[in-house]
Amino acid sequence: MSCHLSDESQRIDAASRLISIIDTLTLTGGSSNEGGSHETAIFSAIQDFLLVLSPHRPLYAGFHDGQVHNPLGGGAYAFKEGLISPTILSLMNDESTCIHRSSPGLTRPIIIHAGFQPNNSPHAGTLIVFSYAFLLAKAIHDEISAHGSAISVAVEIAIVDTAPISHETREIGGIQYQRAYRDDPAVLAAYMIDYEEVLDQMSKWSGISFRPTYQSDLFSHPELPKLLAYVVNHRARLASQLSPKYNTIALRAACPVPGCSLTEKHGILNQYTHNSITFYCPYHGEHSISLSQPSEIARLEANAPTRNLIRSMLHLLDKDAHHIRITGADYAGTYQEAFLYRPLAECLYVCNGGYETMEALGTDGLLSYARLRSKHGTQGLKRIWDEVERWITEPKNLFRASFSVEYLRAVLDGSNW
Ligand SMILES: [Zn+2]
Repeated sequence: MSCHLSDESQRIDAASRLISIIDTLTLTGGSSNEGGSHETAIFSAIQDFLLVLSPHRPLYAGFHDGQVHNPLGGGAYAFKEGLISPTILSLMNDESTCIHRSSPGLTRPIIIHAGFQPNNSPHAGTLIVFSYAFLLAKAIHDEISAHGSAISVAVEIAIVDTAPISHETREIGGIQYQRAYRDDPAVLAAYMIDYEEVLDQMSKWSGISFRPTYQSDLFSHPELPKLLAYVVNHRARLASQLSPKYNTIALRAACPVPGCSLTEKHGILNQYTHNSITFYCPYHGEHSISLSQPSEIARLEANAPTRNLIRSMLHLLDKDAHHIRITGADYAGTYQEAFLYRPLAECLYVCNGGYETMEALGTDGLLSYARLRSKHGTQGLKRIWDEVERWITEPKNLFRASFSVEYLRAVLDGSNW
């Protein structure tokens, strides 16, 4: 009780201070605002008020001038004159240096990659990545077509159906186990309908076709056994780089006993030989895959950093196609530097409860495509698409530090910074 009274009196105090500053403004019209002292006092009073408004979940005000969203720096300078021509030139250089030094122009198809874990209706970050993949494909296609090239440009969407079903994870004997979406088709299907709607729409808008792929496609690639042998042979060094926390390679295979399908999350109990990996199920014991049997390798799963490494190696070795991967900011930048190039730590996730605050702030349309559609109708997705299209025409926007939730709220509201 005393706690509630204290909260209430703090709210009253903070509200009174804010009102008294605004009262002063209404009386003086801000005429004595030397050095912006009114603004500073108001910002401070608003922040103080927010902290006590909901003390169990304090809010922090983010003020900006509408200019801060468009800083010019870094890659923005390099691509100031356009994004597409330099990208195509890079692909042409790749061909001429990798195959025949004198080979002119582009001869290989171009595949733009993006992916997702089907564990929610797609949120704004995923919608932006998808938009950018299709818009980049369209821009590249339009540019090379204008120069008479018939090279195909397509989008490939990797469905990470090996992602864990959150309510199916468990810890037994200090070891974490999980069950993947692909082992529970009904759960997998639950969100797929929203992804299909979004991808079909973007394919229509761009005129670019797309192909969904599954994790078994990645592990069925003819080059995969060779790369996997490399990973297994170098697992001691790679483990420290890909998993600083567990110092293991998170390769998994689901328990083959019907109805079980448990996998050990971090690969802590895996046993390796030069030709096999043996996995452990807490209920049914050991089971193995042979590294010389492609059909058994196709059963493998890998966590994000291991998958990222294997996929990147595969794309780099492919002499028959160009691969461009679009990755959201949480798995781009430093993440890639850490897990592709250097042994560094921890990836970032939204803290527990972070999404609830987005509801309080009215930005929950960004949480999922389902909410976006119900709050903003078909216009919501189109506004995100239009915003990302601006990144193609004005590349400086692509290279800004990040896009805040607040910025995206304004995009959905139709505001123009
Ligand atoms: Zn089992």
